[in-house]
Amino acid sequence: MSVKELQAIESSSVIPSYRRFPVEFVRGEGCRLWDDEGNEYLDFLAGISVCNVGHCHPAVVAAVQQQVERLIHVTNLFYTEPAMRLAQRLAASSLGGKVYFANSGAEANEAAIKLCRKARPGGEIVVIQDAFHGRTLGALSATPQPAKQDPFAPMVPGFVAVAKDPQAVDRAVHSGTSAVFIEPIQGEGGVYPISAELLSAARAACDRTGAILVFDEVQSGMGRTGTLWAYQSTGVVPDLLTSAKGLGGGMPLGALITNPALGDVFAPGDHGSTFAGGPVIASAALAALEVIDDESLLASVRDRGARLSKGLAKLPGASKPRGAGLMLAVDVDGDAPAIVERALLEERLVINATGPNTLRFLPPLIVSDGEVDEALKRLDRVMS
Ligand SMILES: *Cc1c(COP(=O)(O)O)cnc(C)c1O
Repeated sequence: MSVKELQAIESSSVIPSYRRFPVEFVRGEGCRLWDDEGNEYLDFLAGISVCNVGHCHPAVVAAVQQQVERLIHVTNLFYTEPAMRLAQRLAASSLGGKVYFANSGAEANEAAIKLCRKARPGGEIVVIQDAFHGRTLGALSATPQPAKQDPFAPMVPGFVAVAKDPQAVDRAVHSGTSAVFIEPIQGEGGVYPISAELLSAARAACDRTGAILVFDEVQSGMGRTGTLWAYQSTGVVPDLLTSAKGLGGGMPLGALITNPALGDVFAPGDHGSTFAGGPVIASAALAALEVIDDESLLASVRDRGARLSKGLAKLPGASKPRGAGLMLAVDVDGDAPAIVERALLEERLVINATGPNTLRFLPPLIVSDGEVDEALKRLDRVMS
């Protein structure tokens, strides 16, 4: 079907919660996408940091194909090997405790919120100004953005937003605090790295009070910043870590990872999901981790990130780039959404805008130097 036909169906049958570009993608490979008319695009968004291994990575495709032919779903009432192996690998690669699987980033954060409330009953949850933790009601309550929250009031009580200021965080955390939630690099908020001072202040405040430090690495994790988890280059280790987006190699999967002390806060019946951690998706995630949890791949994320950042700095009307690895943004003089649309429709380059003046870049982590240079060339033409 053509884009026009799909748009007609959308207007009659699809709840309009998304604004879509008039492009229909039918195939993807590596950093490339193809539309229904056979046009090739360079993808520097990767499905919002989901396709970190690139589109249709052969190892992910093979893992899914093999598993989907044997067993698709049984629920968490039973064992499957992929889920257990994935939990073991995720915990070993990060905080060394235990893992709870979810189907998305918001759900991983919901699990973290519930775990913190059970571990520290009645306590407040401190969140950072401009944070984004998801769209479900608990995660939305942890997302202090009036435009996103107000239509759905009242929010879940118990969340306190603080300014991006180490002293403000220190003052907000007290003996009645359950947890502090932080994205080490705020993604949806415009790719703003949280300062080392704020991260250290949050760690110290949690150590002082017993509150739980939670890092939301739904976007910054899975190799995106040049280490497997962004916290590994900050020197601050959280107590809980949430992951999703790139975790499933393109398939929907989220995870909450604990440190050893918090591994047994949930008991049977406390939390659950019918689908989460199913064998097909766990197999895909194991294949994706095999690709990403690799020092040469991570080194190339750092190198290609530096190359992209250097090029972005030279674009006409662009601010100094910010971010880490291949999670980058620049502010522009012009209208960022208009630049995104022209890049897509005129130059066949997929990027996105996190706000009226901010362009965000999240290419697949397997991107080549040539593809980085090509994307910069296309962007330069749009912005000149
Ligand atoms: C995308 C995102 C979420 C929400 O993930 P979904 O899978 O869309 O629910 C939560 N936290 C951060 C930091 C994100 O970038």
